[in-house]
Amino acid sequence: MKRNARDARIATQAVWAGEEESLLQGATQVPIAQSVAFGYDDLDDWQQVALGQKTGHIYSRNTNPTVAALEEKVRILEGAEAATSMASGMAAISNTIFSLVRPGDRIVSVKDTYGGTNQLFREFLPRISVTCCLCNTTDFAAIETEIAKGCKLLYLETPTNPTLKVVDIERLARKGHEAGAIVVTDNTFATPINQRPLQLGSELVIHSASKYLGGHADALGGIVCGPRELIRPIFHYREITGAALDPFAAYLLLRGLKTLALRVQRQNESAMKMAQFLEEHPAVAQVFYPGLPSHPQHEIARRQMPGGFGGMLSFVLHGGYEQVKKFLPRLKFAHRAANLGAVETIVGPPATTSHVEVSPADRAAMGIPEALVRYSVGIEDVDDLIADLSQALA
Ligand code: PLP
Repeated sequence: MKRNARDARIATQAVWAGEEESLLQGATQVPIAQSVAFGYDDLDDWQQVALGQKTGHIYSRNTNPTVAALEEKVRILEGAEAATSMASGMAAISNTIFSLVRPGDRIVSVKDTYGGTNQLFREFLPRISVTCCLCNTTDFAAIETEIAKGCKLLYLETPTNPTLKVVDIERLARKGHEAGAIVVTDNTFATPINQRPLQLGSELVIHSASKYLGGHADALGGIVCGPRELIRPIFHYREITGAALDPFAAYLLLRGLKTLALRVQRQNESAMKMAQFLEEHPAVAQVFYPGLPSHPQHEIARRQMPGGFGGMLSFVLHGGYEQVKKFLPRLKFAHRAANLGAVETIVGPPATTSHVEVSPADRAAMGIPEALVRYSVGIEDVDDLIADLSQALA
C-alpha cells in the first residue's frame, strides 16, 4: 500500500516518510545495510545502475539503502526536491560550501555562525581565495548592503549558537536572490518542526543531524536539502571527498527521527518555562531565548518559527566565569558536555562547547560573554529541571 506520507502532517511524516523503498521482506523497520559494496551477477544490470539508468546501489561511499531512507525522510520533512547526507554536520557544511564556490567568489554570512563554520570562513576558505564577509548578525540593513555588492553564497544560521540571535531569512533571502546568490540556512537549532527555511526563500537547508534530528546523542551525521540541480554537485563532491554517512549511524538517526515532533514540542514548551523562570532569577544577568517578548528579534521569530522557539536557551550569570564553574557542577539533571539537542539536558559554557576554537578575545568581539551558560533542554519533566536550576543557583 502506497502511504503518501508526503501529503501528511509533519509529525506523521517524521514517523512514516522515506522508508518504503528501503524496507525488506516485510520488515517494518529499515534494516541496516552494513555493506561496503552491492553485488551484481548480471553485468548489464551493474552497468545500468552505475550509470544511473536503473535504481540500485553500487558502493556505500556513494549510496546505501539505509542512508537513502534517512535522506528521503529529511528531504520530505524539509519540503525539498533532493537531499544528500554526510558523516557529520560540519561535513555537510564544508562539502556544501566547497562544492559551490570557486577561487575569486565572495560569501556573505554573519558573525554568529557555529564555531566550526566560522573557522571555515576565517581560515580555510580564504586559503582558496574565497572572500568571506561576516556581518553583524542582526544588522539586516548592513547585511543587505554587503549582499548587494555581489556574492555567490549567502550563508545564514538561525537561531544562532550560542546567543540565540534570530536572522530574518525571508528578508535576506529576497536580497540574496536579487544579487544572484545561493541562500543556505543552517536549521540545526530550529529543526523542520519549528522553522522551514525553504518556504522562506532559502535554496538549501543544512542540519547537524547529530543534534535534534537524531535526538539521542549517539550518532553523528549531517544533511543538506534543496533543489536537485544544487544537490547534484554537492553529492558528487561528497562522493569524492568521501564524507559519507555510515549505515549504522543512518539507522540510529532514522530511529531518532520518528520522535522528532514529540521531542521538539516538549522541548519548546519546557525551554519557554525555563527562560521565564531564569529571567526573574536574581542570580541571572541576562537570558537569551527567542520566545521571550524581551528578545530583540522576538517578532521575527514569531513569524518565521511557527512551530515554536526551540529547546535551546542561554543565560549570563552575575559574577563571571568563576560563578559558571561553581554553578554547572551543581546541576543534577544535566550532562556537562559539548553537545545539544538530545533527550537529556546538556549544559556548557561556549569556551568549552560551540566556540572552543575561538580565542577569548574573539569571543568577546563576537559578543559572547565568558559567564554565558548554554542550556539544551531535554525531555525531562520541566518541574524537575526548574527545581534543579533553582537549587544550583541558590
Ligand atoms: N551547526 C550547528 C548550528 C551546530 O551547533 C553544530 C554543532 O554543534 C554543527 C553545525 C556541526 O555539527 P557536527 O558536530 O555534527 O559536525
